[in-house]
Amino acid sequence: MNKDICPICGVDKGEGTTSFTVDFHSGVAAVRDVPATICGQCGEEWLSDETTKNLKKLPLRLRSRIRKF
Ligand SMILES: [Zn+2]
Repeated sequence: MNKDICPICGVDKGEGTTSFTVDFHSGVAAVRDVPATICGQCGEEWLSDETTKNLKKLPLRLRSRIRKF
Protein backbone atom coordinates (compact mmCIF):
# COMPACT_ATOMS: atom_id res chain seq x y z
CA MET A 1 0.00 0.00 0.00
CA ASN A 2 1.34 3.36 -0.95
CA LYS A 3 -0.81 5.60 1.16
CA ASP A 4 -0.09 9.25 1.00
CA ILE A 5 -0.12 10.21 4.63
CA CYS A 6 1.74 12.87 6.54
CA PRO A 7 4.66 11.35 8.47
CA ILE A 8 4.26 14.01 11.13
CA CYS A 9 0.59 13.76 12.03
CA GLY A 10 -0.50 10.70 10.09
CA VAL A 11 -3.43 12.23 8.24
CA ASP A 12 -4.06 12.11 4.50
CA LYS A 13 -2.18 14.68 2.51
CA GLY A 14 -4.04 16.80 0.01
CA GLU A 15 -3.19 18.33 -3.32
CA GLY A 16 -2.59 22.04 -3.41
CA THR A 17 -0.24 24.76 -4.45
CA THR A 18 2.49 26.53 -2.60
CA SER A 19 5.05 29.20 -3.25
CA PHE A 20 8.72 28.47 -3.58
CA THR A 21 11.78 30.67 -3.63
CA VAL A 22 14.65 29.98 -5.97
CA ASP A 23 18.10 31.43 -5.41
CA PHE A 24 19.96 32.62 -8.41
CA HIS A 25 23.04 34.71 -8.94
CA SER A 26 21.46 38.13 -8.70
CA GLY A 27 18.82 37.46 -6.10
CA VAL A 28 15.87 35.33 -5.19
CA ALA A 29 12.83 34.64 -7.32
CA ALA A 30 9.52 33.65 -5.81
CA VAL A 31 7.52 31.13 -7.76
CA ARG A 32 3.83 30.99 -7.00
CA ASP A 33 1.29 28.26 -7.60
CA VAL A 34 3.79 25.45 -7.43
CA PRO A 35 1.90 22.16 -7.36
CA ALA A 36 2.53 20.43 -4.05
CA THR A 37 1.17 17.88 -1.68
CA ILE A 38 0.13 19.64 1.48
CA CYS A 39 -0.91 18.30 4.86
CA GLY A 40 -4.16 19.92 5.92
CA GLN A 41 -3.29 19.37 9.55
CA CYS A 42 0.24 20.74 10.03
CA GLY A 43 0.75 22.52 6.72
CA GLU A 44 3.87 20.55 5.80
CA GLU A 45 4.49 20.61 2.06
CA TRP A 46 6.06 18.11 -0.29
CA LEU A 47 7.11 18.71 -3.86
CA SER A 48 7.27 15.93 -6.39
CA ASP A 49 10.64 14.93 -7.85
CA GLU A 50 9.62 16.36 -11.18
CA THR A 51 8.55 19.68 -9.66
CA THR A 52 11.82 19.90 -7.74
CA LYS A 53 13.76 19.18 -10.92
CA ASN A 54 11.88 21.89 -12.80
CA LEU A 55 12.44 24.41 -10.01
CA LYS A 56 16.14 23.71 -10.04
CA LYS A 57 16.26 24.42 -13.74
CA LEU A 58 14.35 27.65 -13.27
CA PRO A 59 17.32 29.96 -12.55
CA LEU A 60 18.75 29.11 -15.96
CA ARG A 61 15.49 29.92 -17.64
CA LEU A 62 15.04 33.11 -15.66
CA ARG A 63 18.49 34.31 -16.55
CA SER A 64 17.66 34.32 -20.21
CA ARG A 65 14.30 35.95 -19.63
CA ILE A 66 15.08 38.68 -17.11
CA ARG A 67 16.85 41.80 -18.24
CA LYS A 68 18.76 44.02 -15.91
CA PHE A 69 17.13 47.35 -15.27
ZN1 LIG B 1 0.86 16.79 8.94
